[in-house]
Amino acid sequence: MKIIDLIKSPKPTLSFEVFPPKTSQNFESVRAAVEEIAALRPAFMSVTYGAGGGTSDFTADIAADIQDKFGVPALAHMTCVSSSREKVHAVTETLKAKGITNVLALRGDLPQGFDLSAADYRYASELIAEIKERGDFCIGGACYPEAHPESEDSMTDLRHLKEKADQGCEFFTTQMFFDNSILYNFIYRARAAGITVPIVAGVMPVTNAAQIKRIMAISGSALPQRFVRIVDRYGSDPEAMMQAGIAYATAQIIDLFANGVPAVHVYSMNKPEIARRIMENVSSIIA
Ligand code: FAD
Repeated sequence: MKIIDLIKSPKPTLSFEVFPPKTSQNFESVRAAVEEIAALRPAFMSVTYGAGGGTSDFTADIAADIQDKFGVPALAHMTCVSSSREKVHAVTETLKAKGITNVLALRGDLPQGFDLSAADYRYASELIAEIKERGDFCIGGACYPEAHPESEDSMTDLRHLKEKADQGCEFFTTQMFFDNSILYNFIYRARAAGITVPIVAGVMPVTNAAQIKRIMAISGSALPQRFVRIVDRYGSDPEAMMQAGIAYATAQIIDLFANGVPAVHVYSMNKPEIARRIMENVSSIIA
């Protein structure tokens, strides 16, 4: 099943993201959590890919497990900036052999002091073109409603985003955001820039206060006052923060679907409890 067909179907698409184990020692515990999430039967699941190669071998294994055991379509992430052409070719062959036809093509974060001029791939657009040539894949890419942190400005970032669509990217998944008006504004600007492919909204349920610092470091996402108040008030009470974080993410998701966003991708962080509670909260909305 091609993910683009799910996104384009009239039914709202709710999907979850999981990450593979870092080492073979925790493979089974990660697999058990991933399987619990797959058993909830989301529209599809994505499996992240370690930029430095640390976890990359497990991405295809976990993705194949999701598809083969649960019939849930899997979206395998793939990064390129730290990879040779040979490595990218080998990974695409592995995906094909395991029946994985959906790929989220990413550049990956730049390792410190990295010499981009010596890399086989400098940008995700180059990886998209390469994957397109190597098989009948449905290819997605990443986009940033608040602009990619390295970009000069949001218009330049959108120009590069359009290059990814021009190379064959069929949909984009957004970086997390905590204020839906940021997403609506971004979609408006993307359409004005000639980007016509569907945009999947990425939502992160924040269920513990420590996550916030990491989120700010990775994404630079703006935090609305009403969200900051929730973390200030409930951050030191794990159960209350869990309840409030799920309620906040649920409200975001319902508002996105109500405003015609076709697909929401939840950063469920290998936490079946979070995935289950979100699924329950929107069960009639996605039915
Ligand atoms: P690109 O699209 O290549 O963009 C990177 C930067 O280069 C941007 O600033 C862009 O404006 C600029 N740019 C693009 N083309 C050009 C050009 N021709 N000339 C000059 N500048 C250009 N990381 C992982 O390691 N593993 C994962 O599984 C993973 N999954 C992700 C999933 C999602 C939904 C998102 C949003 C991010 C994910 N990331 C992941 C993080 C991602 O790898 C980083 O954000 C990375 O820094 C950028 O990747 P990209 O594919 O967006 O890069």
